[in-house]
Amino acid sequence: MSEVIPFLDFHAAVHELRDEVDRSIQRVLDSGWFILGRELDAFEAEFAEYCGVSFCAGVANGLDAIRLLLEAHGIGRGDEVLVPSHTFIATWIAVTQVGAEPVPVDVAISDFNLDVEKLRLSLTSRTRAIIPVHLYGLPCDMDRINAFADAHGLLVIEDNAQAVGAIYHNRRTGNLSRHGAATSFYPGKNLGAFGDAGAITTNDEIIYNKVKTLRNYGSPKKYHTEVVGMNSRLDEIQAAILRAKLPRLDEWNQRRIQIAHQYKAGLSDLAQIALPDSSHSSTRQSVWHLYVIQTDHRDSLQQFLEKNHIQTLVHYPIPPHSSGAYKDVDFPHDATKNAESLSRRVLSLPIGPHQSPGQTEFIIGKIREWCAKQM
Ligand SMILES: *Cc1c(COP(=O)(O)O)cnc(C)c1O
Repeated sequence: MSEVIPFLDFHAAVHELRDEVDRSIQRVLDSGWFILGRELDAFEAEFAEYCGVSFCAGVANGLDAIRLLLEAHGIGRGDEVLVPSHTFIATWIAVTQVGAEPVPVDVAISDFNLDVEKLRLSLTSRTRAIIPVHLYGLPCDMDRINAFADAHGLLVIEDNAQAVGAIYHNRRTGNLSRHGAATSFYPGKNLGAFGDAGAITTNDEIIYNKVKTLRNYGSPKKYHTEVVGMNSRLDEIQAAILRAKLPRLDEWNQRRIQIAHQYKAGLSDLAQIALPDSSHSSTRQSVWHLYVIQTDHRDSLQQFLEKNHIQTLVHYPIPPHSSGAYKDVDFPHDATKNAESLSRRVLSLPIGPHQSPGQTEFIIGKIREWCAKQM
């Protein structure tokens, strides 16, 4: 194979949906209405139903979705919010943007999600909320997180950016906390727009109405501004595109699950690499946003695959606590140890709904070739 195997094939995704997407965009152009209109109303209803919740409000992106939920719940200056040590930095930034402090809880090496046993260690009298992130597409152990939160009077806001469609005990992510969930439709996410977009989902009508007000300058009614809000809206063209893609989501996630099975079958006997844990699959179904392996010689493997025209990525090379954004804050080593180790060891292999079994087989073959050379 001399053609490059892309990390995620956007061209193939556009190609499969071209006619529907063209018609959707056309519909918006013909309507002559581009912000807060019928397409958004319809998408919000459809996405709420998909997640199994009563309410959905579209916003401009995933970061704003987290931020607006925190604001709607009144979290701000003086408050602490527990966040996983290993996540995309937006989870932390949303907390900082509302004036609160992100406090890391270390993740478990086994499933990359925050370690429920360690929540206790980061708890203080100022803790107000927990943001569990369903990282790489695998739902967190939400029953235990919700029980801990209830016992300590904390809010729980799901960061569902990477796990749209994933299932935990017969319920979809986005519907696993009483206080709300934030989703991103960034193009690379499992349900991606062709631009920036995000949403909140919740069963709490008051929070839903607050987010709708906050996303539109703080105005529940045009020119009647009650609080200082933002401009964070999901536009009609992106909403129409998301409506065309949503009916395909389960099938596209299913194809990702097949690729994950194929990787596991092809790589599980190799001593040099650790595969993502799938032992929880009876209670939690991952949607494999990313397929992340670990090895002590990550950079060497990445370079070898690159030479063989296989694109890989690292999610994430710098943990939030070590980034420039938080360089002035001291975080306890105990709460960030596993994030540091993962940042040196993780490698995300290509995965996506348009990756063929032949491509996956080729990648498996090259990884086996690299492992044989390590002996
Ligand atoms: C992508 C992502 C976000 C932010 O979403 P944007 O739409 O890019 O703002 C937040 N949290 C996690 C875990 C993400 O992967």
